[in-house]
Amino acid sequence: MNVIAEDEEPCSKNFSSTRNACKLCTPLGACLVFRGVEGCIPFLHGSQGCSTYIRRYLISHFREPMDIASSNFHEESAIFGGSSNFQQGALNVMRQYQPQLIGAATTCLAETIGEDMPRLLHDLREKHGPRVTAPIVTVSTASYRGTHIDGFHAAVKALVDQLAQPGETTGAVNLFPGMVSAADLRLLKEIITDFGLNYTLLPDYSETMDGETWLHYEKLQSGGTPLKAIAATGSAKASVEFGRTLATGETAGACLLKKFSVPRHLLGLPIGIRESDAFFQLLSELSGHPTPVKYQRERGRLVDSLIDGHKYVFEKRAIVYGEEDLVIGLASFLCEIGVTPVLCATGGHSKQFEKALREAAPLLPADSLVKERFDFAEIAETAPALEPDFFIGSSKGYRAARDLKVPLVRVGFPIHDRIGGQRVLHLGYRGAQELYDRVVNALLDAKQETSTVGYAYL
Ligand code: SF4
Repeated sequence: MNVIAEDEEPCSKNFSSTRNACKLCTPLGACLVFRGVEGCIPFLHGSQGCSTYIRRYLISHFREPMDIASSNFHEESAIFGGSSNFQQGALNVMRQYQPQLIGAATTCLAETIGEDMPRLLHDLREKHGPRVTAPIVTVSTASYRGTHIDGFHAAVKALVDQLAQPGETTGAVNLFPGMVSAADLRLLKEIITDFGLNYTLLPDYSETMDGETWLHYEKLQSGGTPLKAIAATGSAKASVEFGRTLATGETAGACLLKKFSVPRHLLGLPIGIRESDAFFQLLSELSGHPTPVKYQRERGRLVDSLIDGHKYVFEKRAIVYGEEDLVIGLASFLCEIGVTPVLCATGGHSKQFEKALREAAPLLPADSLVKERFDFAEIAETAPALEPDFFIGSSKGYRAARDLKVPLVRVGFPIHDRIGGQRVLHLGYRGAQELYDRVVNALLDAKQETSTVGYAYL
């Protein structure tokens, strides 16, 4: 008899591999990271369809062109290995794009047949040394072992692991923000600069994936973290990493601590007041400066607005879903504003989710459902009995929210059915303000829409 461990799939009798997962493909996260490095082109070792799918997802969220190279497996490579495809593909990319770096991630197929990326790299250099004009960073990203967020963190770690150098300690701070929006990245840069700190933000796709119009076609959009800055992460005075579920993970911050003794500070995603306070407090300690008045005022305005809007959100019920650390940050924020997250769901499976969530949101009621490895079919099945007032998460929750005739507040990734997903601000007091206004207005909008009277003054 086959015995299935509790934490292994299939996790329910009705399990089907074709259900609508509340997570995305692992190399997708890695590709986004690589596009946040200056002059870097993502390169998928595996089947061509994977790069098409990932490009389609990223483009329809960011509304920017996105080239992803592929070693383009065919039947033979799937059986005998894709070494020659990898070599040919890498050389083609170097010739056509002249990148500063190639970020090579594996797809499910390459992982399934056990492709050994360090060996492929070694063979490439052995055979074509003089034609290898750019460094190549490799990362293993089997989708059946993780989510887009795992691929994201793995790629950031691979970059510092393979490129960071030791050196005399500088006053700079490394910031590993996780998979946040382009607007969030711009805000983080503004905040750290206002504290007077030098920093390396990795990755930084705030320009490459949300840039200006071009006068001339750019094969690889300008912007991104410079390679020199990544090399210097080994001599920073500290690393700040967002993600409560990463406490035990092998992350970029953990890698730099181990290899170069760079102190690591792990914080939750700074969503809402408490988590943002912790971030500003840490920056204050690292810089030796108090929080600039500009941000104290933002916090003050936010608190004032919570009082103004309290009567509209108090005791409302929300379904929150998405990647683990985003859900944790959102749940913490919702509890602060008087909303009860009745279901916190993720497709991730860090096994840290519920513990980290309850630590970040101590006001979360004990009977709120917290579900790892949940999919959208399960969310839709569970939702009616919970009587939510709204959903908050990516656009993939639209159908479940629509079935219940409740609003969906679109945050995170992907947002495919609206414009501006890359400009949604989540972080800091400014992000909390934007989220709060959107939540309140979504509820007011729903109230007006369903009112038989049609109040104009709420
Ligand atoms: S096969 Fe794997 S790597 Fe390719 S698109 Fe599907 S989940 Fe992603």
